[in-house]
Amino acid sequence: MATKQDQTLDLNNIRNIGIIAHIDAGKTTTTERILFYTGKSYKIGNIDEGDTQMDWMEQEKERGITIMSAATTTFWTAALDKALNKNKTRINIIDTPGHVDFTAEVERSLRVLDGGVVILDAGSGVQSQTETVWRQADKYHVPRVAFVNKMDVLGADFHATIKDVHEKLGSKTAIMALPIGAENQFKGVILLLERQSLIWESDETGASYTVSDNIPEDMKAEVEAHRAALIEQICELNDSLLEQYLEGKEPSIEDLKKALRQATIANQIVPVYPGSSLRNKGVQPLLDAVVDFLPSPFDVPPVTGINPNDESQQIVRKPDPDASVTALAFKIQADPHVGRLTYIRVYSGTIKSGSYIYNSTKKEKERIGRLLLMHANTREEISEAKAGEIVAAVGLKATGTGDTLCDENSVLVLESISFPEPVISLAIEPKTKADQEKLGLALSRLSDEDPTFQIRTDPTTGQTLIRGMGELHLEIIVDRLKREFKVDANTGQPQVAYKETITKESEGEGKYIRQSGGRGQYGHCLIRIRPLPRSEGRKFLNKIVGGAIPREFISPVEKGVAEAQDNGVIAGYPLTDVEVELYDGSYHEVDSSEVAFKIAGSMALQDAVKKASPVLLEPIMKVEVTTPEEFMGDIIGDLSSRRAQILGNDQRGNARVITSLVPLSELGRYATDIRSMSQGRANYYMEPHTYEIVPDNIAQTLIKRPVGESTEK
Ligand code: GDP
Repeated sequence: MATKQDQTLDLNNIRNIGIIAHIDAGKTTTTERILFYTGKSYKIGNIDEGDTQMDWMEQEKERGITIMSAATTTFWTAALDKALNKNKTRINIIDTPGHVDFTAEVERSLRVLDGGVVILDAGSGVQSQTETVWRQADKYHVPRVAFVNKMDVLGADFHATIKDVHEKLGSKTAIMALPIGAENQFKGVILLLERQSLIWESDETGASYTVSDNIPEDMKAEVEAHRAALIEQICELNDSLLEQYLEGKEPSIEDLKKALRQATIANQIVPVYPGSSLRNKGVQPLLDAVVDFLPSPFDVPPVTGINPNDESQQIVRKPDPDASVTALAFKIQADPHVGRLTYIRVYSGTIKSGSYIYNSTKKEKERIGRLLLMHANTREEISEAKAGEIVAAVGLKATGTGDTLCDENSVLVLESISFPEPVISLAIEPKTKADQEKLGLALSRLSDEDPTFQIRTDPTTGQTLIRGMGELHLEIIVDRLKREFKVDANTGQPQVAYKETITKESEGEGKYIRQSGGRGQYGHCLIRIRPLPRSEGRKFLNKIVGGAIPREFISPVEKGVAEAQDNGVIAGYPLTDVEVELYDGSYHEVDSSEVAFKIAGSMALQDAVKKASPVLLEPIMKVEVTTPEEFMGDIIGDLSSRRAQILGNDQRGNARVITSLVPLSELGRYATDIRSMSQGRANYYMEPHTYEIVPDNIAQTLIKRPVGESTEK
């Protein structure tokens, strides 16, 4: 149960943060250390041995990568707060995945957190994926502090990494601390404002360290120079401090930190700290920085939503626990102990356990059974969750990722979380008949948790297709089926998820009339279709005037149109980027029915698409290859043979980074090929970028081939 102290936590003492990093930069290790120092984790885990708190899914441990978001609650009292006798701060850590196959997961987490800790690798600086997540954080205006990790590795360079942040990411940084030593001589840090040195004697314990005013003799000049620069930099951000500064007075540390906090929250500057999570050095000052500089739920702009009954009306909700409830469900997770958990960020009002809440996205009332704070290895049951908090709810049935929860008599809908469409699919079937039912259940559980993972039945073969963001994504799912759900399944070759679209405007007619004695069938509609810009999806406009089709038959027409769109017209792939306008039709007093109009809708769409020069669309991946110079020629040559469009070729350290756009269908076996081309020294990452029209000669072979057959070379 909640302790008294927990319940008296002020919202100013909450930080909802994400730890954002390039894979392998040390996100898991740092998170784990944070959980250890904040006292909720019983022992230091080591990622290399697959024993951390956040990576709770078996197979994530094995791969050593974090895929699924979850929120972990922990507590910390910052040094300055301790000195001022202030309360501890509740830090909710939203687990953001670092692997780019799962950018959607990163975006989802960025929506609900207020601030971020970006982990950089002192040995390799700003890497391509760091750039991706940094830009996403920019997009969502997430204030951040940066941790230059791995100060202990060979070649670790604090200042070069910071220079990288300026040059590649265009962000201003405030150097808050200097490392004492580097590589295997890395011992601790010097906090510049405080002129304090923090030394960790051992690599192991980490929790204990010595704080003193002894600055190593050979660093004194460097410390003073950086300190003066830092103070000047902070004063320039704040008019009243600038005045003091120009009068020759040094503002107090408290005032300097306050000014820096404001500037960090306003995304004007990023405070930076050096450290090494693995060696247990430098994490505590970083935690202080989270408290000192990252925003509380009060410091971020209030959330806005739309009134579902009048979409032109925007509704703003302040983080007030007494206002009506506004919350966003941002993650569904199947928990082995308590069942389906819905992670919720509360933006306004107070949610109580055992009460009803309205899901305005699904238009359904839901009962909240229990509310839980998820600690690293325990769950704490709480009776209510207030504005600003992040909690897990048990008992919600219909609520999915991105749904808005609110009061039934004060409804609004928050912007949903958008996820990219799957680009690859895999046929899957159970190994034995007995597994059939288990497979279906397991798949639906998994797609419940992960909106970028979908299940579809192939319209021609009847096979079950699983669809996702990349081969690795689907591989992990099949693995989880085995491990967590004990379902053995056979899978086919990965298939590219093509789509269909149209290239010009056309009209179509659907007429379904049957007169076979008794009551007949009568449905008749006329539609116009137009191409929409890429990734706009589908639109349906009802332009019927004067009741040519009675109101109750409009939605059946729309359903019929949608069904035909799902099944495609030229090669069975779903139709996208099309606007359909229903403009005329006719009906029969007796014979008209919903079914007849649905069929007419399908027929009209097929008719129209055939006349609109339909084409196939294919997923294009953004591929970034990092390679030693000597293999660059071969790699570019190979990319060109894969229909790649080369976007950039940059020097990064002593490596080349080649950025290109490549059709997914040409990337079969790329992992193996790139290894053999570069003696295993080049690596790459890819993420879905756009859909583009398939060149004519290639489209011909695809159209002849029935859906479901391999397109692999
Ligand atoms: P993630 O992929 O960002 O979660 O990174 P991990 O925490 O899994 O770390 C990736 C690898 O780097 C692991 O082998 C860690 O042991 C190692 N690592 C993490 N932090 C440090 C550090 O400070 N110094 C050194 N030398 N290695 C580190």
